[in-house]
Amino acid sequence: MRETVLITGASAGIGLELARLFAADGSDVVVVARRVDRLNELADELRSRFKSNVIAIPADLTEKEARTRLFDGLRRDGVQVDVLVNNAGFGAHGAIVDLPVERQLEMIELNVAALVHLTCLFLPGMKERGRGGILNVGSTAAFQPGPFMAVYYATKAFVLHFTEALATELRGSPIIVTCLAPGPTHTEFASTAELERTRLFSSGVMDVQTVARAGYRGFRQNKAIVIPGLKNKALAFAVRLVPRAVARRIVEMINS
Ligand code: NAP
Repeated sequence: MRETVLITGASAGIGLELARLFAADGSDVVVVARRVDRLNELADELRSRFKSNVIAIPADLTEKEARTRLFDGLRRDGVQVDVLVNNAGFGAHGAIVDLPVERQLEMIELNVAALVHLTCLFLPGMKERGRGGILNVGSTAAFQPGPFMAVYYATKAFVLHFTEALATELRGSPIIVTCLAPGPTHTEFASTAELERTRLFSSGVMDVQTVARAGYRGFRQNKAIVIPGLKNKALAFAVRLVPRAVARRIVEMINS
């Protein structure tokens, strides 16, 4: 039986590449994001290149009702989601005191609440059917506090801890749970977050295909955490060895 994979934030960047990888491997996909023209373009590509069944659903996932509508609509149409990829997310660069509060709350709603909500909606079906998986896209931001991107780093710490806990709860079951934790990657993320002129994005930025491939492979290999790239792996490890005050100062420097 063909697997159906739902990918949030599939209109650009890592989500779009993940959609290509799942489809190339023979999965049917449900692609979700706000920009319907981009989703339709991707759907056409996946149908013609890989003969996949593709459903494109425009939705603003910061809205709780939109998430419920997405789940109810798929259930009504008899679409069983085997794999959920919680990828949609964004960041915002700046001091807490300067950033609009609405944007920060929207970020928590998308990066955290939507990820938990969709997991809770789709996981029971996976358990019932005895197969499935959840691939959550976190970040290397998860491993330390992030001055000048405080809310974003904190949302990604949530994603990492939530995903690791879920992976442990489901250990030994047929359901795979993975957290992909990329470092800086060439997508629309940096321009959306206004990070382009920071040290963080000045060198060592990975290409999106490599990052998505690492995530895809790690998920298929049932890894709990996947950090693409040697430098990112080394930094995520090194941060455990230095005092937290030092880690905070280093991030402050690279985020300014
Ligand atoms: P991206 O190119 O900006 O893509 C973000 C995706 O999220 C787009 O498809 C966007 O589609 C979707 N999205 C944004 N707001 C949404 C909303 N309200 N409702 C539904 N979909 C929404 O960025 P990316 O780098 O691929 O980011 C993907 C994930 O990787 C994010 O969780 C990000 O935090 C994480 N990440 C990125 C980097 C990096 O350096 N790029 C590093 C670490 C982690 P629409 O605009 O069409 O809605």
